[in-house]
Amino acid sequence: MRPQNQLLKENKHMSDHRNVSPEKRAEELLAKCGIRSAPVPVEKIAKFLGAQVRFSPLDKELSGMVFIKENTPIIGVNSLHHPNRQRFTIAHEIGHLELHRGILTTSVHVDKEFPVMMRGVTASQGTDRHEIEANTFAAHLLIPKALLDQALAGKTFDIEDDEPLEELAKKFRVSKKMMEYRISNLS
Ligand SMILES: [Zn+2]
Repeated sequence: MRPQNQLLKENKHMSDHRNVSPEKRAEELLAKCGIRSAPVPVEKIAKFLGAQVRFSPLDKELSGMVFIKENTPIIGVNSLHHPNRQRFTIAHEIGHLELHRGILTTSVHVDKEFPVMMRGVTASQGTDRHEIEANTFAAHLLIPKALLDQALAGKTFDIEDDEPLEELAKKFRVSKKMMEYRISNLS
């Protein structure tokens, strides 16, 4: 039998790991990659993690997929989608690699539409916790809080006015909808 303090330590370690939020994990990865400006180079980040990114025309409703083959993570992206959406797909799949690697060694994870943005938005659709986590991770990877704060500094931002939103979306190379979501959830 193991001494109790060792067991406690192990439990603590396990719960620490589980408690690190997708937001925090995205921030940590950005720091590790030394990303300090927008747009965030998601493809480079994937390569930094040893992943291969493959672009190919897929069915319209398929965004992408991720799996691990002989220890190499492979991210597949639908090349027919808008470039911003492809960036989101890559960020989402990186999220799976960072957060759910364990399940990727035994199966190919395929992503269709991303109907559920983030936690709390439309969680009622019953979409799997992994998808919500990967989406949250992706939003924070593509639009890091620090860079968004910088971009918003000194600006009065009116969510009703579309132009600054569009400008920001362009700067970060994300969809307007994604930018809107991030700004309204800046806490
Ligand atoms: Zn997914």
